[in-house]
Amino acid sequence: AYWPASGDIIVNNLSARYSADGPKVLNDISFHIKSGERVGIVGRTGSGKSSLTLALMRCILTEGSMYYDGIETHSLNIDALRSQITIIPQVPELLSGTLRENLDPFSQHDDVVLNDALRSAGLFSLQAETDENRITLDTMISGGGSNLSVGQRQILALARALVRRSKVLILDEATSAIDYDTDKVIQNSLRRELNNDVTVLTIAHRLQTIMDADKIIVLEAGEIVEFDSPSAL
Ligand code: ATP
Ligand code: MG
Repeated sequence: AYWPASGDIIVNNLSARYSADGPKVLNDISFHIKSGERVGIVGRTGSGKSSLTLALMRCILTEGSMYYDGIETHSLNIDALRSQITIIPQVPELLSGTLRENLDPFSQHDDVVLNDALRSAGLFSLQAETDENRITLDTMISGGGSNLSVGQRQILALARALVRRSKVLILDEATSAIDYDTDKVIQNSLRRELNNDVTVLTIAHRLQTIMDADKIIVLEAGEIVEFDSPSAL
């Protein structure tokens, strides 16, 4: 249950495509991210950032090798892989039902834990306690999350990841839909609340979002053109 223990990621000569006869969207990528590192990923639209997150979860076709804590992903059960790594996509899908059910589908936690996760994810700092429309554990979410803004959905998806205690967290920032304040809340939450044993990859659209990352990956047309500390770029 506690794999990956630390969140160390090695990627060797990774290429990826969406279909067997489709073009390569990632081309021969290699990098090593150490446990607990904060890594920012930047690059122009279409450069392959979201595709990289999908490849890391083996949701698209990949060649090459990827190791989590030294274990090659092809030797892992795909469900085990996907249950330990959380991707917060650009537009997260939520389930229809209460927020409580979304955060804890198997009723394994009490409300204190769930509310702590919501607070840590930054939800409460965005809404006044007196607001009658504020989101609580009893709020009904409609299919996909369509009654929430994209920023709210990302915050709730982050809370869900905190409840799951994922060791690898990949945040694919919403492009335009998210406002600067919400972006800042999410980034502050990630910095403050996650221990150094969680590896965080953030795909960012504003450079200032990731200026305090340990490393930055710059993607261009499916290839890594830079991989270094922000100060060295
Ligand atoms: P953005 O900043 O706009 O989110 P991105 O860097 O995340 O861009 P990707 O979504 O990874 O870019 O796209 C990389 C390449 O993969 C593009 O050429 C795109 O057309 C292609 N691609 C993305 N999604 C699919 C898909 N579902 N099927 C086929 N090709 C896709
Ligand atoms: Mg994308």
